[in-house]
Amino acid sequence: MPESKRLFFAIELPADIQTQVIHWRAQHFPPEAGRPVAAANLHLTLAFLGEISAEKQRALEGLAGRIRQPGFTLHLDDAGQWLRSRVIWLGSRQPPRGLLQLADMLRAQASRSGCYQSPQPFHPHITLLRDASRAVPIPPPGFRWSFPVSEFALYESQFIQGRTRYTPLNRWTLTTE
Ligand code: ATP
Ligand code: MG
Repeated sequence: MPESKRLFFAIELPADIQTQVIHWRAQHFPPEAGRPVAAANLHLTLAFLGEISAEKQRALEGLAGRIRQPGFTLHLDDAGQWLRSRVIWLGSRQPPRGLLQLADMLRAQASRSGCYQSPQPFHPHITLLRDASRAVPIPPPGFRWSFPVSEFALYESQFIQGRTRYTPLNRWTLTTE
């Protein structure tokens, strides 16, 4: 069987925001609230691809490299819990148009390349805790974390020795040139 990898496109968090986010999480959520996502794994998924062959990966990378759009600023000013998927998340009250455009484009490219894409609308979020099956109070987002997004990346997800590890395989700069 040809080799395949579990892949997704995502935006990474800057290191200083990562640190602030995990500090805030530790302050506001007790251990029983859920399983914390490792600091280095905090990310915003743009398009989940699933198990992808090397050939299809190359094709998708080629398409991603053709995306021309400017960067944007992401404000993490919202937080919540989805009981159905059992996650506690951070997000934006008003996701920037550039973010929605980028995700739409990557999802359309994936879908045209034969990768299953959920018909559910895109809800941009950064998962903070998983297995959060019991409703817990979510503190009001009394914070203002903003950062410029100037690139996106293709990640491989692996489950090794009981841990989920993401490895960036390729990155692209957001530019109109
Ligand atoms: P783990 O499943 O090992 O606890 P994880 O969910 O972060 O960790 P993956 O399942 O490989 O690791 O998912 C990688 C990223 O893709 C995550 O952001 C995850 O929420 C998202 N994702 C996973 N499966 C789907 C799916 N079927 N549809 C949309 N997004 C998905
Ligand atoms: Mg998962």
